Amino acid sequence: MLESKNWIGGEWVSPRGASLAVYSPSNSLEQVGLLHLSDATDMLQAGEAARTVLPRWADTLLPMRGEILFKAANLLEQQVEEVARVASLEMGKPISEMKGEVLRGVSLLRYYAAEGVRSIGSVIPHSQDKVLQYTKRVPLGVVGVITPWNFPVAIPVWKIAPALICGNTVVWKPAEIASLTATRLVQVFAAAGLPGGVLNLVVGKGSKIGNTLLEEVPLDAVSFTGSTGTGMGVAAAAAKRNIKYQTEMGGKNAAVILGDADLAVAVPAVLSGAFRSAGQKCTATSRVIVERSIYEAFSAAMKAGIDQMYVGTALDPQSYLGPVASADQQEKVLSYVSLAQSAERVAEGQTEVDPASGHYVMPLIVTGVGVDSPLVQEEIFGPVATLLPAADFDEAVALCNRTVYGLSAAVFTRDLQKGFRFLDQAEAGMVRINQETAGVEYQAPFGGMKSSSSHSREQGQAALDFYSQTKTCALYYG
Ligand code: NAD
Repeated sequence: MLESKNWIGGEWVSPRGASLAVYSPSNSLEQVGLLHLSDATDMLQAGEAARTVLPRWADTLLPMRGEILFKAANLLEQQVEEVARVASLEMGKPISEMKGEVLRGVSLLRYYAAEGVRSIGSVIPHSQDKVLQYTKRVPLGVVGVITPWNFPVAIPVWKIAPALICGNTVVWKPAEIASLTATRLVQVFAAAGLPGGVLNLVVGKGSKIGNTLLEEVPLDAVSFTGSTGTGMGVAAAAAKRNIKYQTEMGGKNAAVILGDADLAVAVPAVLSGAFRSAGQKCTATSRVIVERSIYEAFSAAMKAGIDQMYVGTALDPQSYLGPVASADQQEKVLSYVSLAQSAERVAEGQTEVDPASGHYVMPLIVTGVGVDSPLVQEEIFGPVATLLPAADFDEAVALCNRTVYGLSAAVFTRDLQKGFRFLDQAEAGMVRINQETAGVEYQAPFGGMKSSSSHSREQGQAALDFYSQTKTCALYYG
């Protein structure tokens, strides 16, 4: 039986709080593990462990820190099947996608491991003779990492790996419904030889131990990914302490289909963006804005695509999408589905599993809803997308930007001029032509505009900016 554990100061310890049985989202009768929840004391101990070992880790030679991350990458690569299986069982992402996500974790570890032998500063001319002036990245200190459940491996790794290579120590609080996966992932870091206390895992409810982390643990920075509501609270707590923070939050991403779009490219990209991972990606396509001239043809093609979509269990390699991650998530998504009752339902998927056996929500495309409907304005985080007609390019862009969010946006067109105008005008941190809104490149900066983010960026070199601070050094040798 899989069990969640805390890893604090290099020891595997049982959390002090209550224990809950974990059931598979694919089959509500199948128990997959036991979740032990932490209390405030566990969290404070983790903070102490991270603080104690900080000077030693910050002094560890960068190439040596890199070596440990390389080892972790190799071990994770050897354990892809097993780590992916735990995550699929726990949060319902189809196994084929989950394996891809674990391999993304491997790439991220290798990318940041290599930073162990790259430049950490630059030489800058000085106004006085015989002065060497240079900058140097130095660690921030103890970093709190708070992660959601929807990418239970990739998101933690894209925060933890750059934090560690920059010389910080970490206290990680994963989403409670991804705690078995978090425990499994930390086993990889432990086996790679990461010294005790450098990374500390504390599993538990955000509502119980989140405030302890944000208000009582002596943090120097916090990196959060999750919903906008929670993220705003994290930002306020960090601002109160004047510690560095980043909050990556929700999205309501649009794909714009112009009249000249190649449907053979657009339709699979929109289906994938809207329905892979059961729509539970921050970058999922949630609004599909279609120029009227192509509206009928596009709707028909989407309908045909959804009719063929296979909804199955997370461990079935054929599943295009599986269940949503939890009963709460199912209830929330179904409340939006019920809002769509009065609207026209363009297409709804089919399944061979009994939808009542787990947290299944059939893929759904809705049309005929007003632009202020919650279906169009709120993040649903499930397999539901809305089609919106637009008269022309300008109206399509205006609709695309008519949201408080600004994470990702895509346009489908053969017209380069319109494509580039879209890249200029779309208010989103990630903008694309003829590519789906979802999916990120680990070597490129990622983050949102408007209410989707605190306006910093993750991944690529941008992560190194967040997890370090710059010292400007000068030496007179005359
Ligand atoms: P959530 O906000 O409910 O939880 C995120 C994390 O915050 C969890 O670990 C949770 O336990 C913790 N938390 C909850 N209350 C807290 C508190 N008071 N103090 C401290 N921590 C607390 O989000 P979720 O349901 O886990 O994830 C889904 C959300 O994440 C969606 O809105 C999605 O768009 C967003 N997301 C954003 C990105 C991005 O990069 N922008 C990526 C993935 C997911």
